[in-house]
Amino acid sequence: MLIRTTQHLIEAGLVSDATGLEAVAAKYAIGITPAIAALIDPSDADDPIARQFVPSTLELVTTPDERADPIGDLTHSPVEGIVHRYPDRVLLKAVHVCPVYCRFCFRREMVGPQGLGTLTGPELDAAVGYIADHAEIWEVILTGGDPLVLSPRRLREIMLRLAGIGHVKIVRFHTRVPVVEPERVDAEMVEALKASGKTTYLAVHANHPREFTEAARAAMARLVDGGVALISQSVLLAGVNDDVETLAALMKGFVENRVKPYYLHHPDLAPGTSHFRVSIDKGQALVTALRGRISGLAQPTYVLDIPGGYGKADIGASAIAGGDGCFTVRDWQGGEHPYPPQG
Ligand code: SF4
Repeated sequence: MLIRTTQHLIEAGLVSDATGLEAVAAKYAIGITPAIAALIDPSDADDPIARQFVPSTLELVTTPDERADPIGDLTHSPVEGIVHRYPDRVLLKAVHVCPVYCRFCFRREMVGPQGLGTLTGPELDAAVGYIADHAEIWEVILTGGDPLVLSPRRLREIMLRLAGIGHVKIVRFHTRVPVVEPERVDAEMVEALKASGKTTYLAVHANHPREFTEAARAAMARLVDGGVALISQSVLLAGVNDDVETLAALMKGFVENRVKPYYLHHPDLAPGTSHFRVSIDKGQALVTALRGRISGLAQPTYVLDIPGGYGKADIGASAIAGGDGCFTVRDWQGGEHPYPPQG
């Protein structure tokens, strides 16, 4: 059963008391797929899967630094559905619904039934026209919402339209579907994600190693075997993955499934999400600890989307200081070494 309401949450045994949750549901959509519901341990009050998907009255607490559009999508949107923040790439947000609704979502004010909706035919025409008119656009990133909620037929149509634009070389999808609704990733879907002359990347969003179920692993294998390159996307979340053991298992899990770790996002200043935020100091310590613990192949880049739409910054602790040809380099255990070496 798809869980969409507080009543559904009670029926599924995921909450025993829905007091206050109607007020949360009125602001932010609820969505839990059967695959995710099956992963939740209702007897564990601190279950890291439940924490990501089961609404909490903590979401009614908004802090002064939080904002409805934390990464500044709207200030960089020349036409509906397009975000053009960097010269060589655009976001194409064709749809603003998702199979699940993550409680920490940075676009929580835009997604869901009361969100920005799906692009109409004329809006999609205008968005594709914008991409065609801007020869500097090398990469189109389909995000949303979750683009894989679209049918293979609709995805194929979009890919065919992008295939007709010579300067677009890369099409990237950002999605939760391989993990939260793996059965959607069938052979027809995999084929629909590809287009002649374009390279397809797909960023798999997962935040805890338990999300790599057998079904999710099989979905990722179908994508890789079908010719789609996979990269990862995770959010550093208090109470979900803010310890080195969990992060290491998550990143190794990606690599074992042929997903190259890409971004570990510092959580954005989305409304009602302060209970998920960790300090940047803690995030830096965690990614430094990862460096000494797991293969270079499994290292993500720790990034912050600068509020206001200024783009991403790598915020991992710098391992090098100094200048004028004389540096001090820090190893993963904190030892400092001059570079060039002296003597
Ligand atoms: S799937 Fe992505 S866009 Fe949808 S609610 Fe989760 S984080 Fe937000």
